Amino acid sequence: MGHASTRSVALIGLSAHVVDVEADAAPGDSELHLVGLPEMSVWPARARIRAAILNSGTAWPDARITVSVAPVIPPVYDAAADLALAVALLAAASVIPPERITGRVFLGELALDGGIRPVRGVLPMVAAAVRAGISRVVVPADCAREAAQVPGAVVMPVTQLADVVDQLRHGALRDHDNQEPECAPSSPFAVDLADVSGNQAARRALEVCAAGGHHLFLSGDGPATMLTERLPGILPPLSEQAAREVAEIYSLAGRLHRAPGLRPPLCAPHHSETPAAIFGSVAANRPGALSLAHRGVLHLADAPEFTSPVLDGLCQALDSGQVHLAGHGRSIRYPARVTLVLDSRPCPCPEKRRCACTPEARRRYRARLALLLPRVAVRAPVEWGDRGAREGEPSATVAARVLAARVRAAHRLADTPWWTNAEVPAPDLRTRFPAAPEASELLRSAVNTGLVTADGLPRLLRVAWTLADLRGAGRPQLDDAAGALELWKGADGDGTR
Ligand SMILES: [Zn+2]
Repeated sequence: MGHASTRSVALIGLSAHVVDVEADAAPGDSELHLVGLPEMSVWPARARIRAAILNSGTAWPDARITVSVAPVIPPVYDAAADLALAVALLAAASVIPPERITGRVFLGELALDGGIRPVRGVLPMVAAAVRAGISRVVVPADCAREAAQVPGAVVMPVTQLADVVDQLRHGALRDHDNQEPECAPSSPFAVDLADVSGNQAARRALEVCAAGGHHLFLSGDGPATMLTERLPGILPPLSEQAAREVAEIYSLAGRLHRAPGLRPPLCAPHHSETPAAIFGSVAANRPGALSLAHRGVLHLADAPEFTSPVLDGLCQALDSGQVHLAGHGRSIRYPARVTLVLDSRPCPCPEKRRCACTPEARRRYRARLALLLPRVAVRAPVEWGDRGAREGEPSATVAARVLAARVRAAHRLADTPWWTNAEVPAPDLRTRFPAAPEASELLRSAVNTGLVTADGLPRLLRVAWTLADLRGAGRPQLDDAAGALELWKGADGDGTR
């Protein structure tokens, strides 16, 4: 009889914790006891591990096996620890030499037939192991490429518990020859702003939002989706840090193969999606569309059609830059710093020609966005059939202006935690980054006349800063303030809606 220990990793949201898995074999009832975890969450694990071991051609140890995972985080058993539990209990029962499983992290869910299933979140889990000084990681073969993206990781891919047992008994596990990690290719953007004719106001609004990170509202019946699809193409490439954040979120979602590389992501969930699909699920520890759009663009097409829980929840997430979910005895935060693009037709009718909506019906339709719209500083109309209009500028030309403006802002914000004008808090706009006196005066008078609420004032100041950055000026002048007001009024000529 004996004792063995190894390591695995538990995830809470995106924060990964290396855990100790210890097993003890003693004379007794041939049962597997998992201590420290709620019974409800462990009985399926116990059944899986037992079946996987028996179906791998290994006899179940003739001993009472006790396994513990410490610290217990999260308070729900995570199937990614199955493989670590299985090798620990087999080592405690002297089926494999205990010293061969120490100094390694084991990740993988067991199938009843002894196969090793891929798990979500391998990228943040392996990164945590390497940070904790454990570079040798045993992962499901389907996750090996993902694990190999972590610098310093020595990855051992496995597909069957029988092979793991065999290799550990007769020598060490074979290392995966760490080839060039194949990141999801950052595809050159196939769509270009040159394809969108006319819509000058909307194109300008798109450029301002790209330069300052501001949210955008496109109203009317027009090419809102075409324009939004072209927004990532004019945003600067992600920094290494931002790309790493995005990759970890896609890994946790089990979609790293869809990660955008250095391109800012674009997510456009359908309005029929559930709140869990938008915000994520605490039970499954799976991020939603809002976090998959982190450091990129979240597009809500036909925004008033989204459910109230989604529209209300977005307000909180936009304000804090993260999604906070609680339940099942845990509390999870996912990053969600996005540029939001909303669009709305004037009314719910699918066909404009047959519309018989009253002004009241149209007002009610738009009123569904009453909480969100005050958070959106830039608005513009979109329309079809602007055919005679001259061809638009190509994305590359606009992207160059956006980049120049971003560089100016980054220089100014160098010793702050903020990356874009849209993130600068209101108090700092007053004290550290004031506009020219006549610009501030104009915006204050807009508050006095009721065009802008007091809460809206800082949003206009941020846009004014972006307009100044776009023209290469040192700080916002009167014209920039006037430009910010125009963008605030947008399509309706009425900033209060
Ligand atoms: Zn209608």
